[in-house]
Amino acid sequence: MHGRARDPARMDEVFFGPFRRMLRASLVTPLPGAQWTGIATRIAERLLETKAVDAVLTMAPDPNDRWRPVPVLVTDPAGMAHCRGMRMGYAPLLALLEPAREKGFRRLAIIGIPCQVYALRALEQELGFEKLYVIGTPCSDNTTTERFHEFLALLAEDPDTITYLEFRADYHVELRFTDGRTKAIPFLMLPISKLPPDFFPMTCRTCVDYTNVLADITVGYMGGQGEQWLLVRNGRGEELLAMLGDEIRTAEPGSAGKRKGPVTGFMKNTARAAGGLPLRGMPNWARPLVGWLMPRVGPRGLEFARARVEMKAIETVLHLRRRYPKRVRNMVPDHVWALVKPYGLTRE
Ligand SMILES: Cc1cc2nc3c(=O)[nH]c(=O)nc-3n(C[C@H](O)[C@H](O)[C@H](O)COP(=O)(O)OP(=O)(O)OC[C@H]3O[C@@H](n4cnc5c(N)ncnc54)[C@H](O)[C@@H]3O)c2cc1C
Repeated sequence: MHGRARDPARMDEVFFGPFRRMLRASLVTPLPGAQWTGIATRIAERLLETKAVDAVLTMAPDPNDRWRPVPVLVTDPAGMAHCRGMRMGYAPLLALLEPAREKGFRRLAIIGIPCQVYALRALEQELGFEKLYVIGTPCSDNTTTERFHEFLALLAEDPDTITYLEFRADYHVELRFTDGRTKAIPFLMLPISKLPPDFFPMTCRTCVDYTNVLADITVGYMGGQGEQWLLVRNGRGEELLAMLGDEIRTAEPGSAGKRKGPVTGFMKNTARAAGGLPLRGMPNWARPLVGWLMPRVGPRGLEFARARVEMKAIETVLHLRRRYPKRVRNMVPDHVWALVKPYGLTRE
């Protein structure tokens, strides 16, 4: 896709995959209903407005459940507004590729999470679209929409009125409600111990593509310190970013704090959980204090993104070793071994 693999001499590529540029970014006018400022859907809207593509393949909310993703082919730029926002769940996005071809769409854009983009790239040649633009978002973990509703029910007394949820890079989960209220819960105060051990499926817990490495442009927030975080990966990615013109404000991403301590702690908690969700062995009285400290002294910006990628790499190795040891050889790529090595995990 990018004409080259990760360059080990550019250390951040070992974490995030090949990129030409990394940026901190926001739309000058954030779009209502967007997960962050709406860069992902605005790029797609511009592609439709300028007739660079015939259709955009993405997820809309189910009419009966705003959290359930439903794949859609959007041809009218105005239709993108309805697709803004993050929904938790799985839905067969790529099942609409053949219908798209049958409808005569030759130039297509896709917004997808890494597992969808990975499969798309495997099919790309065979599908023979004239033009294919891939806008990827990062994804740490996903679960079924049913399971996600159970999680929401633990977070608020009126879970049906939650309209927005995000695991922010400042170690808080943000909730928004239908009546305009908002709530920020420190990660440490989340009711993780009440979730079933398989809340996140093994496929997500052993995923090695957090940052959507095969996308033309990755649009996330992890490294953005409160703003969005873009990885422009190839020439098509540059083209997509350029379509936003002066609607977008960009800056160099920042980085602060040190990840080694938190990542080591996470590894110990993951090993101790023996296949369950990693819980922090910390007394309840200390949680609000540490929850207050983390955004101030913990890893921030790119260092936060690196920490999360290392945590995912550690999870992959520990979970596969425990549950599917024979798969380790085929499922753990070289760059993941490089990421876990400083934590004492090496190929056996
Ligand atoms: C399950 C999940 C986990 C994520 N985890 C992270 C993370 O850890 N770190 C990070 O930086 N970013 C993560 N993201 C991406 C993040 O939520 C934002 O989508 C991204 O930052 C873009 O913001 P935006 O305002 O530009 O998006 P918007 O303009 O609001 O567009 C969001 C796009 O995502 C699509 N979408 C929503 N739900 C799904 C879904 N379930 N499957 C596929 N596509 C979907 C929408 O259809 C829409 O096209 C995750 C996304 C999902 C779906």
